[in-house]
Amino acid sequence: MNVLNFLLQNQGTQWLDYLLIISIVVAIFAFMFSNRGVRKAGYLGKPPEIHTELMCIECGFKEIRKFREGDYIGKTTDEKCKKCGAPVHINLIYTLFSPMEEKNQ
Ligand SMILES: [Zn+2]
Repeated sequence: MNVLNFLLQNQGTQWLDYLLIISIVVAIFAFMFSNRGVRKAGYLGKPPEIHTELMCIECGFKEIRKFREGDYIGKTTDEKCKKCGAPVHINLIYTLFSPMEEKNQ
């Protein structure tokens, strides 16, 4: 009987140890997942890259560059056409989304 009591007591403490380990593991996982959530929110909150499409008034040559503050469709910029040197105007302003990248995250 003493041996049985000893075994039961021992199992009892082992169970407590497991409980402690499990709660630590759960805490680590919770921490990891909360970190992931923050990172994901940060990724989603990141402003998408905006592009501006410039079109030459004379020859219609198109050039794409990054959006700059003050850009609007129809604006004639200070830039010159790389083909003929004529002034260019903003033809299009757009953003690029890649749904594949979002799925992988
Ligand atoms: Zn041109």
